[in-house]
Amino acid sequence: MSIDNKKLRSLPKVDELLKREDVEELIETHPRDLVVDAGRDVIHALRQRILEGQTDVDCSEESIVEEIRTILKAGERRNLRRVINGTGVILHTNLGRARINETISKAIGQVAMQYCNLEYDLEKGERGSRHDHVSGLASKLLGTEDAIIVNNNAAAVTLCLSAIARGKEVIVSRGELVEIGGAFRVPEIMEQSGCKLVEIGTTNKTKLSDYENAITDQTAAILKVHTSNYRVIGFTEAVDEADLVQLGKRYDIPVLYDLGSGLMMDLNSYGVDEPTVQSAIKNDVDVLLFSGDKLLGGPQAGIAVGKKSYIKKMKKHPLARMVRSDKLTLAGLEEVFRLYFDPERARTEIPVLDMITMSQEEVKEKALRLQELITFHSIGFSTKIVPVKSQIGGGSAPMLDLDSYALCIEPSEMKVAELEERLRHCEIPVIGRIMKEKYYLDLRTIDESEFEIIKNVFLAIFKDE
Ligand SMILES: *Cc1c(COP(=O)(O)O)cnc(C)c1O
Repeated sequence: MSIDNKKLRSLPKVDELLKREDVEELIETHPRDLVVDAGRDVIHALRQRILEGQTDVDCSEESIVEEIRTILKAGERRNLRRVINGTGVILHTNLGRARINETISKAIGQVAMQYCNLEYDLEKGERGSRHDHVSGLASKLLGTEDAIIVNNNAAAVTLCLSAIARGKEVIVSRGELVEIGGAFRVPEIMEQSGCKLVEIGTTNKTKLSDYENAITDQTAAILKVHTSNYRVIGFTEAVDEADLVQLGKRYDIPVLYDLGSGLMMDLNSYGVDEPTVQSAIKNDVDVLLFSGDKLLGGPQAGIAVGKKSYIKKMKKHPLARMVRSDKLTLAGLEEVFRLYFDPERARTEIPVLDMITMSQEEVKEKALRLQELITFHSIGFSTKIVPVKSQIGGGSAPMLDLDSYALCIEPSEMKVAELEERLRHCEIPVIGRIMKEKYYLDLRTIDESEFEIIKNVFLAIFKDE
């Protein structure tokens, strides 16, 4: 191996680079230290390559500056950033679950940039409660007595059990010992909350008498958990919350209901077989718990609504401070709740609901428009519009496949895996699915406003083909 010593000596010093006009310009728009560091890294890498005996090393100052520019640009990319969801999974946990609309995000931006009355009662001119902003709206909308908002539903359930049943027994059906994913498993949450889990019934059948027989003087609550991410079908029996509430009233035991998704609108006609917040409230459960960023369609939050005496216990519990939600969440949730006063508006303006209720025909039309847009100039790939199934995801409506349409793309000069990778590495990453050596973008989860971005990405990827 011979080392090109001449080339090694020709490598510029960082100080020399800094005198160049184009580097001075970079220093005007970037922190000087970052430019210097990038320069050092580039020169170091070139030196290593020469020492390894590589012969094709471009040591020109111009190419070094270009490399510095690339490094600076990559450094500016946000770690957490927007992506385009072409998977067709509406509540995609890895892609941030519910997407919110402009009205909601503006409300969040407002309180983020300005002072706000987070814990200040403007009527009385004294300290107020952060929970009041949403609990008043929840009472108007749902007829509940009180509400508390925390970080997420897992926190809401833990807080609820800790505040109401710590050191006592909680009765749960074996058919509802749910695992939601991650560390949320009902038996473990029960243990964390200091409650004794009393399992009753069997996996497929639990009767009202099973509940009644399990009641002792140590019973603090009956917990119902919605089997949100699975269904038990066939020879089955479960007790609905209305009957549990009757039983609870007879023995003076509260019924707590972990509903999971927080669906606030009957979507049965769209095939969404999920219980609603309203029906659980109508059945008079004592505390109802649900997520803010599943089918409710708002920001991440855990919402507990119900009887004042129980919600008050939750508010006063020391855990409440640890899991409380911030002003941004509260501002977003308030806006979401306001949208629900007009259900038709909620259905079309809350993105999650809009995506679920969009007809297959509408999705197809979107797919055709995107196809027309990206095939206008490009060569190197062929496209087809094909029917596919989308999912709600996020542990909701597990049996439901929504009839949808995708743009199916088959590159002619590159492997489909390479296309997938290049789309994923874009400035605004595009995330799709590969099935049988073809690439699919499901239009149910792609907004029209994202079409231009996708078009430009395709133009860039296929410009050389
Ligand atoms: C999703 C879910 C949870 C957890 O809610 P997060 O908001 O994700 O913390 C708890 N219980 C049920 C039944 C759920 O579906």
